[in-house]
Amino acid sequence: MLTTTRPRTTPVPPPCPDRACHTDIHGRLWKDTTYLRNDPDNWRWYCSRCGQHWMPTHEQFAWYRTLPVA
Ligand SMILES: [Zn+2]
Repeated sequence: MLTTTRPRTTPVPPPCPDRACHTDIHGRLWKDTTYLRNDPDNWRWYCSRCGQHWMPTHEQFAWYRTLPVA
């Protein structure tokens, strides 16, 4: 079912998939748009704790596309 309404609450970025980061305050992912260029779906998650980039899931690409997640 398609909906055009935007969510009322700003979604919180997910925690890092690395379980070692879950308990760390820096273990939340950042939306890294460094390589965005012309493709709005070319962003990646970045974990400032372990320094790794993670591929967003299909749902996350749709969910976070237009939202200003820092
Ligand atoms: Zn991490």
